[in-house]
Amino acid sequence: MAFASSETTLFGKYELGKLLGCGAFAKVYHARDIKDGRSVAIKIINKTRINTNPALKSNIKREISIMRRLRHPHIVKLDEVLATKTKIYFVMEFVKGGELFAKIAKDGKFSEEKSRKIFQQLISAVRYCHSRGVYHRDLKPENLLIDENGDLKVSDFGLSALTEQVQQDGLLHTLCGTPSYVAPDILTKKGYDGAKVDIWTCGIILFVLNAGYLPFHDSNLMGMYQKICNGQFKCPKWMSSDLKRFLSRLLDTNPITRITIEEIIKDPWFKKGLKRVKFCE
Ligand code: ADP
Ligand code: MG
Repeated sequence: MAFASSETTLFGKYELGKLLGCGAFAKVYHARDIKDGRSVAIKIINKTRINTNPALKSNIKREISIMRRLRHPHIVKLDEVLATKTKIYFVMEFVKGGELFAKIAKDGKFSEEKSRKIFQQLISAVRYCHSRGVYHRDLKPENLLIDENGDLKVSDFGLSALTEQVQQDGLLHTLCGTPSYVAPDILTKKGYDGAKVDIWTCGIILFVLNAGYLPFHDSNLMGMYQKICNGQFKCPKWMSSDLKRFLSRLLDTNPITRITIEEIIKDPWFKKGLKRVKFCE
């Protein structure tokens, strides 16, 4: 990978490389740690958008302190946070394999066995965060990365409160771009339990892994929201009955009766062949 000249050296520590991805309020670049040549990913957030909103500012501070404390094999590690007057830089572990769903778009749906492994890793990460009071609330394809060994790394964890706020303020409309993953409990606008919302989204992700397409779709947005609220989805016939039953527990429209994380890890479909994932406490 080519690295640019010293003009793109950050803080005398990192050489900026190519653009990896663009979020709604940030750009992420590949970079190299000058000290040891290690690859990192640097997310650059423009402060000007944040400075006008004190709530957003304090949210960022809170979330950074949470992110710094998250240490899990399936969560992208935040190495350090640097800042100038105008920008914030998140220096993170570089995840080589790209976005999980780009893989599905390219190679098609996963086998049940392969998707089980990824799902076990996802739940391991989500359970770890929930036990620390961190709710992602924005688990979506772009935030699920795959490393060179084919293992999952959840990114953007902890910044969810921030992105959520941005949406509420209506500052960044593009962030509303993943309505297919939204839980019915959010759509009803009566307040929601962050843990249950994350579990719903995990259900959508599991469906897509095994089906290769989304469970709720409609050419019309309101039509799709209606299907989400009614829990109207159909599993393809190649799915095992154990998986169909498990999905119906994850995609239960009632957050009260929806499966909990502790129930997930005891589920027969989930548990099958479980050996590689460590459930960190
Ligand atoms: P935003 O919060 O603005 O959505 P993200 O943190 O999701 O920004 O990053 C945008 C994109 O950059 C991701 O969808 C992904 O493709 C890429 N990316 C983010 N973090 C990494 C990383 N640690 N390693 C490799 N690519 C990354
Ligand atoms: Mg993102």
